[in-house]
Amino acid sequence: MSTTFHLYRLQEIDSEIDKVQRRLDEIQKILDDNQELKRVKAHFEACEAEQGKTEKTLRKAEDEVKKQRVKIEQTESMLYSGNVKNPKEVQDLQKKSESLKRYLLSLEDVQLEAMLANDEKNDVLREAQKDLDALKAKLVQEHSQLAGEQSGLEKEKTRILQERDVALPAVQADHLELYNKLRKSKRGVAIAAIIDGGCSACGATLTPALQQKVRSVAQMAYCSSCQRILYGN
Ligand SMILES: [Zn+2]
Repeated sequence: MSTTFHLYRLQEIDSEIDKVQRRLDEIQKILDDNQELKRVKAHFEACEAEQGKTEKTLRKAEDEVKKQRVKIEQTESMLYSGNVKNPKEVQDLQKKSESLKRYLLSLEDVQLEAMLANDEKNDVLREAQKDLDALKAKLVQEHSQLAGEQSGLEKEKTRILQERDVALPAVQADHLELYNKLRKSKRGVAIAAIIDGGCSACGATLTPALQQKVRSVAQMAYCSSCQRILYGN
C-alpha cells in the first residue's frame, strides 16, 4: 500500500473531525451567547427599575397621607376631649382641623396619581416577565435538543480520534509534516484524489505521465496546478 493511501485515509479522518468540531463550536456559541435572551433580559431589568421608582413614590405618598390622618386625629381628639374650653382656642382647633383636612385631599390626589402610575408600570413589568419566561422556556427546549446533539457529537469525536490513533502510525514522519503544512495552507485539503484524469481539489487536468507517477508506490507526486499531494487508487 502506498504512502499516499495512508495520507488520504488520514485526511478523511481529519476532515470528519473538523466537521464535528465545527458543529460543536457552533452549538457552544449558541449555548453561551444568546443575543435575544440578553435583549429580553435587559428590557425586563429596565422595566423592573422603572417600576421600582414608581413604587417608591407611591410608598412615600401613602406615608404622607397616613401622617396627615394622624395629625387630624390628634387635632380632633383635642377638640372633642372637653379639655379645651376657651372659645378662641376651640375655634383655632376647628380651623386647624379643616385646614389639615383640605391638605389631606391634595395628598390623597397625589397618592392616587402615584398608584395609577405604579399600576401602569406593574402591567408593563408583568408583560416583560411573561416574555422573558416564554423565551427561557423556548431556549430550555432548544438547548435540550442541542445538548443531546452535543453529547452525540462528543462521542462521535472520541470514536474518530481513536480511528486516527490507529491510522497515524502508518504515515511516515516527514510525510506527516508535509501533510500538516499543506492542510493549513490549502484550506484543509492537503491531498487530492485523481478523478477522471483531473485533480479533485482544483480541477486541473493531469498529464498521463503525472498520473503514472502517482500510481507508482515509490514516489510522491504533486498537482502541477495547486501543488497538493495527488492520490490515485
Ligand atoms: Zn490540483
